[in-house]
Amino acid sequence: MKSSITPRYLGQNEPADFRQNLVAGLNWLTNRHPQEAIAPHLGITFGQEILPGVRMSISPKVEGGDGSWAGVTFNSTRRPFDEAEVAQLRSLVESVVPVYETWNGVGTRNLGFVVGRVAAVPLKEALARYRAGCSKHHSVFCGQGGCDWLKEGLARMLTPQGWF
Ligand SMILES: [Zn+2]
Repeated sequence: MKSSITPRYLGQNEPADFRQNLVAGLNWLTNRHPQEAIAPHLGITFGQEILPGVRMSISPKVEGGDGSWAGVTFNSTRRPFDEAEVAQLRSLVESVVPVYETWNGVGTRNLGFVVGRVAAVPLKEALARYRAGCSKHHSVFCGQGGCDWLKEGLARMLTPQGWF
């Protein structure tokens, strides 16, 4: 039986921009981040709504399996995703990168895809520097006494073109 739901993205001017921004975000995983760069363990979020009412993030590491896959996640800012929207987003992501698994989705405001792209060594090292924390304050929650460890490290991380 055909669904009467109209995906909110049909008729929009994407997916040219959508694909371009997703490609840039996925390339962030394999960018040559500088030696002193720090990358946040939760990944990065596109600076604006990637589609009306939807934010997109790239997660550098998805736990489970061999723990090495990246995730593309979407957050709905207005209401839960419906079936047609989840199918459409999956199809859009799959047009750029293989999708191996889906988490959350229909009826929730969060939708995640495990994708066939992994973080390269420079990003893994930047993530490890984050986890190790500030060597002076022994914490990832640094900032005491005007310490700029995290701020400076994050500023050194390369960001996807057009994301912020
Ligand atoms: Zn510090």
